[in-house]
Amino acid sequence: MMLVVSTTLWAQYKLPKLDYGYADLEPYIDSATMRIHYNNHHAAYTNNLNVTLQKYPELFKKDIVEIFQNLNEIPADIQTAVRNNGGGYYNHLLFWSMLTPAAKSKMSPAVEKALIKNFGSVENFKASFEKAAMTRFGSGWAWLIKDASGKLKITSTANQDNPLMSFADEKGKPLLALDVWEHAYYLKYQSKRADYTKAFWSVVNWTKVEEFMK
Ligand code: MN
Repeated sequence: MMLVVSTTLWAQYKLPKLDYGYADLEPYIDSATMRIHYNNHHAAYTNNLNVTLQKYPELFKKDIVEIFQNLNEIPADIQTAVRNNGGGYYNHLLFWSMLTPAAKSKMSPAVEKALIKNFGSVENFKASFEKAAMTRFGSGWAWLIKDASGKLKITSTANQDNPLMSFADEKGKPLLALDVWEHAYYLKYQSKRADYTKAFWSVVNWTKVEEFMK
């Protein structure tokens, strides 16, 4: 008799539950994009991460952030797949948590103060962040991070890399993320990444940003 091993046995990573409906970020992020982005793109990264780690199931016991910080220490044959799919899994998890319906998107005095301290003004911060989003060539992410010294910085990464990864140019803890892959905006904005980037400000979950700042 053959043993049938469930392929989901070690499937530890799961899609997170969204705190809002697909249509709740309209008109800034459209419902069709949300539905496809979550159910197809994020689901694929999550599934591919699980499939990749099944080869070395002991890695399921490690924290994903710890894996990012020591990517060169995991088996060489899965490093690229973990970088791409682990990044895809985690970056989207962060991104969804940093979004909220426009009616609930309000910057707190604590966040405003931190942005003014680090960037001179909220307007300067937004302009620099938008520039990072616009100048990221091809697919990637724009980030607000807190570095090891506690300073807030803006950076961007290619593909599904993030600032927690060992080889990131600018390392730090993500406080705010914007997905600038075309799949994140093309249905509604087509080639107008700038319009998408500006619309993003209307649906930022500043409460979450403040939480991450602590
Ligand atoms: Mn995406």
